Amino acid sequence: MTARLLDGKALAARLRADIATQVAALPYRPGLAVVLVGEDPASTVYVRNKDRAAQQAGLAARTIRLPAATDQATLLAVIAGLNADPAVDGILVQLPLPPHLGSRGVLEAIDPAKDVDGFHPINVGRLVDGTALLAPCTPRGVMKLLAASGAALDGARALVLGRSAIVGKPVANLLLAANATVTIAHSRTNNLATECRRAEVLIAAVGRPEMVRGDWIAEGATVIDVGINRLPDGRLVGDCATAECAEAAAAITPVPGGVGPMTIACLLENTLLAARGRRGVKV
Ligand code: NDP
Repeated sequence: MTARLLDGKALAARLRADIATQVAALPYRPGLAVVLVGEDPASTVYVRNKDRAAQQAGLAARTIRLPAATDQATLLAVIAGLNADPAVDGILVQLPLPPHLGSRGVLEAIDPAKDVDGFHPINVGRLVDGTALLAPCTPRGVMKLLAASGAALDGARALVLGRSAIVGKPVANLLLAANATVTIAHSRTNNLATECRRAEVLIAAVGRPEMVRGDWIAEGATVIDVGINRLPDGRLVGDCATAECAEAAAAITPVPGGVGPMTIACLLENTLLAARGRRGVKV
């Protein structure tokens, strides 16, 4: 079998256009505030891209840039101000924060109704509960790619490779909510290749370049590669050896151009959901 490539760029463009249409029809402009502490180069690029995408979708986006030396109390005061600001529907604090800041306390300070990253413990609990309005953006993107792939999730054997709070665990909960039979694998899992080979749906989120090889993939599986790894020669690769895996899989996401573009599109969608949710509109 030669896999179909799941084009995340095209899917994200459609989602963004749809969000822009919905936003244009609203009697108000949903507001997104992104907080960037310090000047980490990768974070600066991510924040710029989020701001640009939000503006293009018609959201009232603003970026609050704080110096790297900002103390916890100042950052918490900024978040309190955004929580209280009726024009702000979504708040995102770009991670990682400088090491002297406690990210847990910062994330817990965000009003759960404005928590468009879905990292507040209340939203994590709702995700486990199956009642989340705001689920983390990358996992939502994974689910949309799976929906677009046409893969049947109901009853399917799904394996999530990675158990981070940002990707692995929320993806596993969303798959469970979609009635998949979910296994979560990690660095302590025995016989990893064998576990992977049993999966009809495989989500790779480990951060190890091309770790998942072609002979780990079941014939006809759907493979979503969340990994983004830069090789010493500058190339970006995923957690799966794409060409090898594509020989067995029915469908697979490329890197780049798979999950990556979906993350920002889902951030815009979360902002729209938060704006409606805060106004009591059923979504
Ligand atoms: P983390 O480092 O937080 O988690 C990695 C997970 O992989 C851990 O659960 C770890 O296990 C597991 N793992 C690591 N090495 C192995 C191994 N050799 N065998 C089995 N399991 C292993 O990473 P993230 O979840 O934050 O990110 C994963 C990847 O996804 C990265 O490449 C990241 O860049 C990418 N990413 C992409 C996004 C996008 O928008 N496309 C967004 C977020 C992340 P253990 O828990 O036992 O340590």
